Amino acid sequence: MTYVVLMGGPGAGKGTQAKILCKKLGLPQIATGDLFRENLRENTELGQLARTYMNGGDLVPDEVTVGMVKERLSRPDCANGALLDGFPRTISQADALETLLAEMDERVHIVPYIHVNPDLLLQRLAGRWTCSACGRVYHVLFNPPKQDGICDLDGSALYQRDDDTAETQKHRIAVYFKQTAPLLDYYKNKGLLVEINGEQSIEQVQKELLQVIKESDRQRTD
Ligand code: ADP
Ligand code: AMP
Repeated sequence: MTYVVLMGGPGAGKGTQAKILCKKLGLPQIATGDLFRENLRENTELGQLARTYMNGGDLVPDEVTVGMVKERLSRPDCANGALLDGFPRTISQADALETLLAEMDERVHIVPYIHVNPDLLLQRLAGRWTCSACGRVYHVLFNPPKQDGICDLDGSALYQRDDDTAETQKHRIAVYFKQTAPLLDYYKNKGLLVEINGEQSIEQVQKELLQVIKESDRQRTD
């Protein structure tokens, strides 16, 4: 059983890393941003509720987000744990996660924090393109697709997220520092936080993330 909470500012590379990590570890990726975007596309009630918050770069209210995660964690593919990407984002969400996991006799095992400075976060968000089918993320300069505007994996069109406008990007980074960064101390105090330098290549960050997660698994099974 492994419950991983992947932390980092908007654009730190959580989604990029989570997709590869989850394949390697055989864990489902629970990315609340992706779940909200699916709901937006399908125009569900949840999507309609989340839309204004997301487009403005603000957080969706805690009770809505926690309810969505609770439902997701109850699905059978989470039987061996999960990797949470973009959740929790507030202290109240982190407390709710602790309660949800405790109800399953579980807990968060490790919180890798991908650290990237704000200037670089902004550059990353500004050049981000996402596959409309598989969700893989590219960057115009740092991680370009082989063919402009087309996903290497499945040939689908790439798009820029609605919340990746210059104004919203800056606001999301500010929201991160105000509402989410306090979680770093929250998890540090629980002895779960491990900082990774996110300004290295995607491959190097991946290697270090795998190392720390496997080491935490090893310590628990020894
Ligand atoms: P997050 O999920 O944390 O918001 P993403 O995974 O979407 O971040 O990455 C944001 C952007 O940065 C994407 O365009 C991605 O291609 C790029 N990126 C991610 N990791 C790196 C890295 N280590 N080096 C350079 N660019 C990266
Ligand atoms: P992301 O894909 O992680 O960059 O998230 C995109 C947007 O979805 C955020 O700016 C929020 O509006 C919303 N969102 C994602 N995760 C959460 C969360 N844990 N709590 C509140 N809002 C969230």
